[in-house]
Amino acid sequence: MPERGEHNWPGDELGSFLDRLGQGEDESGRLIDRLPVIVYASELGENGRWRYVSPQVEKILGYTPEEFLGDPSLWARLVYPEDRLRALAVESRERLGDRDTHPVEYRMFTKAGRVVWMLDEAVLEADANGIPVWHGVLYEISERKSAEIDLQRSLAQQAVVARLGERALKNGDPEALMRDAVSLIGELDGVEFACIWEVGRDGRRLNLRAGLDESALASARRISAGRDSHAGAALDAGVPVIVADWAAEERFTMPPAVRALGAVSSLAVVIDGKDRPFGVLDVHSAEPHRFDPKDVPFLEASANVLADAFERHAADRALRHRVLHDALTGLPNRLSFVDSVDEALGRSSVSGSPVGILFLDLDHFKLINDSLGHHAGDALLRAVAPRLRAHLRPGDIVARFGGDEFGILIDRLADDGEAIAIAERVAAAFAQPFSMQGVDHFVNSSIGIAVAHPTAGQATNAELLIRDADAAMYRAKEGGRNRTVLFDAEMRATAARRLETERELRGAIERDELELRYQPIVNLRTGEVTGLEALVRWRHRERGLLEPRDFVSIAEDSGLIEPIGVWVQERAALQVLEWHELRPDDRPLDVAVNLSARQVAHRGLAAGVAEVIARTGLDPVHLRLEITETVLVEESASAIASLEALNELGVRLVLDDFGTGYSSLAYLNRFPFHALKIDRSFVDALGVEQEGTAIVEAVIGMARALSLDVIAEGIENDVQLAELRRLECDYGQGHLFHEALRAEEISRLITAGSLDYSGISSIR
Ligand code: C2E
Ligand code: MG
Ligand code: MG
Repeated sequence: MPERGEHNWPGDELGSFLDRLGQGEDESGRLIDRLPVIVYASELGENGRWRYVSPQVEKILGYTPEEFLGDPSLWARLVYPEDRLRALAVESRERLGDRDTHPVEYRMFTKAGRVVWMLDEAVLEADANGIPVWHGVLYEISERKSAEIDLQRSLAQQAVVARLGERALKNGDPEALMRDAVSLIGELDGVEFACIWEVGRDGRRLNLRAGLDESALASARRISAGRDSHAGAALDAGVPVIVADWAAEERFTMPPAVRALGAVSSLAVVIDGKDRPFGVLDVHSAEPHRFDPKDVPFLEASANVLADAFERHAADRALRHRVLHDALTGLPNRLSFVDSVDEALGRSSVSGSPVGILFLDLDHFKLINDSLGHHAGDALLRAVAPRLRAHLRPGDIVARFGGDEFGILIDRLADDGEAIAIAERVAAAFAQPFSMQGVDHFVNSSIGIAVAHPTAGQATNAELLIRDADAAMYRAKEGGRNRTVLFDAEMRATAARRLETERELRGAIERDELELRYQPIVNLRTGEVTGLEALVRWRHRERGLLEPRDFVSIAEDSGLIEPIGVWVQERAALQVLEWHELRPDDRPLDVAVNLSARQVAHRGLAAGVAEVIARTGLDPVHLRLEITETVLVEESASAIASLEALNELGVRLVLDDFGTGYSSLAYLNRFPFHALKIDRSFVDALGVEQEGTAIVEAVIGMARALSLDVIAEGIENDVQLAELRRLECDYGQGHLFHEALRAEEISRLITAGSLDYSGISSIR
C-alpha cells in the first residue's frame, strides 16, 4: 500500500474500476451497491454532469441516482451554504492527475431537509476523450462529525468551568464573579450571550444581575419567576429548560432583553443554594436548536460554581455581620463603630474636616425595662434605631453599644456648631412618644458630643473620641438628663484629673489616707443621739482633705469602691463598738455607712458585710446601710437579691436621699427597708415653699403607713426643725446639731455627756 495517509486511494485501480463500473462491465458492481458509501463519477465543475452514482445515494441523501444523473446542478444545490466555498475549492483542472487525495468535509441537505456531514474523497482523471472526470467516494460522517463537535464543545465547556472555578476561588465577590461567568460562557462557540437572573425578595420576580447589559438598559430588567417565563419554569421545576426556537415557542414569553439581542434558542438552569435557589443561569444562541441535553451538565457545573461561591460569600457575610452587628437592633455594634470612626478619622486627616461622635444614652431606660418588662425594653430599643436614623444625614452611622447606649458618627463636619445642631435634632427625635403596649411613653436622651479637629494637631483615635463623648454624656446626665453636652477642653482636663486621682486612690488604703467623719443622728422628739452616719474622707498628700464628691465616683468607676467600702464598714463597726464601751448604758449607738450603686450591684456585697460583722463582732442590728434611692431605679433586678441577702444578715437598710430618685410606694414595698432619709433638698424647702412642706408631709405619712422610720437630712435651722417636729418626723441630722465630726471629737462629746441635743425643748 502506498503510504499516503489515512484516506489514500489506490488511484490507478480506482479509475479503471469506475470506468468499468460505469460501463456495467463488472460483476462486483453488486457488491459496491451494498457498501455504506456513495461511489460516483462526475465531470469537473460546479455543474459537471454526473456519469455514475451508486444507489446508496438514495438511502443517504434521499435522491435517486437518476435524479443525480439527470440534474447536473443538484449536488451543488444540496451543499450547505456555509460550506460551499470549501467544497468547490477542489473543482479545478489543476487537480487533474493528482493522485494525492484531498478529502473535503462539508454538510449537505437531504431530500427531507436534514443536514448531514459528508466526506468527499476523489481523484480527477481524464477519460479516453480527455474530459476530466471525478472518481470518488462520499462517506456519510454525520455521526463521527457530531461526536467530534461534541468533544470540542465539551472541551471548551470544561475549560470555561475550570476558569470560572479558578476565578471564584480568587475573588469571592459575587458581582465580579457573575460578570466573569457571563463573559466566559458568552465566548463559547455558538453561544451568543449568557445572563444571570436573581430571585427577587418576594420570590415572584427574577431580576437581571449580569449579562444582556446593553439591551437590558432599554428593556425590562425583571421577568416573572412563574412558569410563564423559561427561566421561571427552570426555577420552579428545578430542571433545565431548553427553548429550541423562540419563533416556535409557545410555553414561554420571551424576555424583552433577550429578544433585543436576537436570541433564537436558549437554555436555562437553576443556580441552587443550600436553603433556597439563588436564581437562573441562562444562555442564548442566535441559531435555532443550538442547545441540547448534552449542554446541560456543563451549564449546571457553571451554576454550581456560582452557587458555591454565593453560598461561601453569604456565609462570610453572615459571620461578619454577626461579629459587627447588634442582634437586637441590627445596627452596627461598638466594634464596627470603632472601625468606622477610625476610617472617618483617616479621611479627615486628608480632607481636614472635623469628625464628630454623639454618645447617646436613654434616660430612665431601666424604669421602662423594670416596669413594662424586657420585651417592652427591647421593643423600645428597636424603635429608637430608625428614629435616630431618620434625623441624620445619609452618610452618618448609628451603632448600638449595648444596653441603652447608642453611638452616632457624624462625618465631614464644618465645625462644632454643626455637631451640636445635629445632636439637638437627634434629641428632638424623642419629642414624639414611643407607643408601647398601646400606651405612649416619652423617653428622653442624654447626648454627649465629641469632635475631632484634624487641624488642631491633636492625635486622636476612635477609642479616645468615644471616651470623650461618653464623658460628655455623663455630664449631660449629671446636668439633669434630657440634654446635649459638648466635650470641651475643661472636660478633657477633668478627665485627665480623674485619671490621676484614680491612680493615687489605688494606694490610699495602704498609705492609711482614708478617714471617717461621723454625723450624729438625733431623735427629734427627745434630742437624744441614737446613732451616727459614717462619712468617708481622703487626706490627700497635696490636695488636703477631700470630700466624697471628689473621689467616690472615681472609686466607683474604677472598682476601688469595693475595698474602700469594706474598709469603711470595718472602721465604722470597730469605732461604734468603742463608743458602746464609752457609753455603757442601754442606749447603744447605731452606725450607718453608705453604699453606692456599684456596691449594691456587686454580688459579693452581703458576703463582705457578713465577714465584717464576723471580724468585728458588732451586733448587726447596730449596723445600718444607706442606699441611695437611684439604685433602686437603675439596678433593681440584682439589687433585690443583694438587699434581701443583707436583710437576712440582720443589718438594717436605710433608703438614702429619698425624693431624688423615682421611687414610688410600689418600689418601697418590694425592698426590705427599715427607714428612709428625706433628702436635704426637701428639708431646705421646709417653711419656705408650701409645696415642699406638703411633699415632706406626704412622705412622712407614707413612711408611717409602711412602718418605716423617717430621718431628715441637712437640718440647718430652727424653722426646719420646728416644721419636722410638727410633721412628726422621727429623726434628723444636720449642721444644726453637729457637722460630720472626727471620731475623737465624738468620743470627747460622749465622755462629756454633751452628745445629745439639748436645744430641742426650746423648739415649738
Ligand atoms: P449622704 O449619705 O446623703 O450624706 C450626707 C451628706 O450631707 C454628707 O456629705 C454630709 O456631710 C452632708 N450634710 C450633713 N448635714 C448637712 C447640713 O446640715 N447641711 C449641708 N449642706 N450638708 C450636710 P458628705 O460627707 O460630703 O457625703 C456626700 C455623700 O457621699 C453622701 O451623701 C454619701 O452618699 C456619699 N458617701 C459618704 N461617705 C461614703 C462612703 O463611705 N461610701 C460611699 N459609697 N459613699 C459615701
Ligand atoms: Mg447617707
Ligand atoms: Mg443623703
